[in-house]
Amino acid sequence: MKNIIMIAPPAAGKGTQSNLVATKYHIPHISTGDILREVMKEDSEIGEYVLETVTSGGLVKDEIMYTLIEKRLSEADCENGYILDGFPRNVEQAKKYDEILGRLNQTLGYVIVLDIDEKLLAKRVTGRRICENCNAVYNINVESETPEVESVCDVCGGRLYQRNDDNLEAFQNRYQVYLEKTKPLLAYYEEKKKVYRVDGSLSVDEIFKEITKILEGNQ
Ligand SMILES: [Zn+2]
Repeated sequence: MKNIIMIAPPAAGKGTQSNLVATKYHIPHISTGDILREVMKEDSEIGEYVLETVTSGGLVKDEIMYTLIEKRLSEADCENGYILDGFPRNVEQAKKYDEILGRLNQTLGYVIVLDIDEKLLAKRVTGRRICENCNAVYNINVESETPEVESVCDVCGGRLYQRNDDNLEAFQNRYQVYLEKTKPLLAYYEEKKKVYRVDGSLSVDEIFKEITKILEGNQ
């Protein structure tokens, strides 16, 4: 297995696909959020710094983040590959990641991009409904994900609500930020011939099938 980076716009199902890949190939799904949560539990100088920074709403310094990522990627469970989620986010970070790979004697395997139309994503985001009782997720704009009774949870009968940031304007803002940051990053990886695009408008199962074809080299 190889080292994989997954890049996708907000609400495109990146987390779901990352988990499916991690489970099928027995490789860790590593997100920067998880790395920070782990180090915060540590009784060390760096652990204290991260805890203070995160709880006060600040951003952990890039240099610290690079150190933590390098440490995580050098652990034994990464020997056969891993799937990295939320890093690198821009070209500067991508260059640092190359340096990290060099020091670990590793190479970058795949940059998998979920390509999906903005309008389709917007429809998905604005249709999302969550159960206020059990947090089950539904989508009134996706036929296979609508609840049986309008506004009522199939699982527990609880009331369904729409999250504040699932409105169209907030989504469009998030999407624009994604495009601006990701464009140069993708160009960087296109040049290295590492980018593999998957049609993100397909179903979860179909997307996963496409990803496995790429990873098994028979697309
Ligand atoms: Zn429920």
